[in-house]
Amino acid sequence: MTSDPDIPADFATILTEDSDTGGAAVPPITQTSLFTFDSVDAMEAAFRAPERNPIYTRGMNPTVRAFEKKLAAIERAEDARGFASGMGAISATLLGLLHAGDRVVCVNNVYPDAYRLMTGLMARMGVETVFVDGTDIAAVQGAVKGAKLLYLESPTSMTFDVLDLPSLAAIARAAGAISVIDNSWASPAFQRPIEHGVDLVLHSASKYLSGHSDTVAGVVCGRADLIAQINRVAYPSLGAKLSPFDAWLLIRGMRTLPLRMRQHHCSGLEVATRLAGHPAVSEMRHPGVGGTLDGSTLSGWSSLFAFRMQSPKAARRFCDALRLVRLGVSWGGHESLAFPTQLGLIQPGLTNSFHAFGVSDDMVRLHVGLEDVEDIWRDIEHALEISEAPGEA
Ligand SMILES: *Cc1c(COP(=O)(O)O)cnc(C)c1O
Repeated sequence: MTSDPDIPADFATILTEDSDTGGAAVPPITQTSLFTFDSVDAMEAAFRAPERNPIYTRGMNPTVRAFEKKLAAIERAEDARGFASGMGAISATLLGLLHAGDRVVCVNNVYPDAYRLMTGLMARMGVETVFVDGTDIAAVQGAVKGAKLLYLESPTSMTFDVLDLPSLAAIARAAGAISVIDNSWASPAFQRPIEHGVDLVLHSASKYLSGHSDTVAGVVCGRADLIAQINRVAYPSLGAKLSPFDAWLLIRGMRTLPLRMRQHHCSGLEVATRLAGHPAVSEMRHPGVGGTLDGSTLSGWSSLFAFRMQSPKAARRFCDALRLVRLGVSWGGHESLAFPTQLGLIQPGLTNSFHAFGVSDDMVRLHVGLEDVEDIWRDIEHALEISEAPGEA
């Protein structure tokens, strides 16, 4: 069951090597809003391709470009575009590609704010979204006829269902729909959807790509023509650019992506396996507990998963009793984090989707960080004991 994680060998060099740094071991942060020119001719030449020449940092900045190129290389993408957040990347992608009257097919249990974007703003703009069970290939095939875009996430948020990416990408292609996937959970270390026929890959770079919980950033990568189409809306109209300093932090954080992901794989699976065998846990949702990497598009498990406890109160007591594992949103950093899903249910616009898609209020989502795995387990085991209050369901 514990298959070793497999990460392409070239990642290590792509992520540690930098070019055009003028000899500096670390690339500079080009912290400037604008770039100047010596002549109108030179300025005109730059204006011929404003997204690719340094003119103004909202459109292009060398530090941001260095991050985009590294990310494109490890996702095996033609091009990439960085954003101020994962949601900045998601909203720019949808607003860049869709028009009023278009239909989107989206799998159940995507990132909650992506769900709210589709059911809120995009609906208001005249773009309809249909939600389907992504594990039901026939249902997706039926729904995607005449749709403009198929929106995927695998494993899915909160429930961690693994989808069949090659089949879903082929179905979208046959229907003439653009396929888009949020690949934040696996990171390119463990899943490269473009190799399986997906057109565009999104990331919240705030998670594993950054790896240190010190940056909020996003990126979309994939077919150059689609990135250019997104750019035509993102640069002039939306403006949610990635800052040079955040790009620099991402370049730094990504140097250790392969090392961190190997550790997350091992520690996450170890903690999940122990939790699954504990009487206080009624259901485990980690794709590697009872699942296999054989024949999967995943080559490793990351360390974000969820489990159900006896009751919402038990989940609450468990979370309150944790000490080393902190309570917090987000994930993908060095630190272990727990999130009681009952708090997701009190956010406006999500209650229906959470209940309809199988997220219950007795769940805890856990991110296993890079602390010593026995220290993490001691903290969790102690909290599990406290969660089992006598005489209460
Ligand atoms: C966090 C997250 C996002 C949103 O990213 P931000 O950087 O917070 O805007 C998108 N998708 C997934 C799966 C996420 O976990």
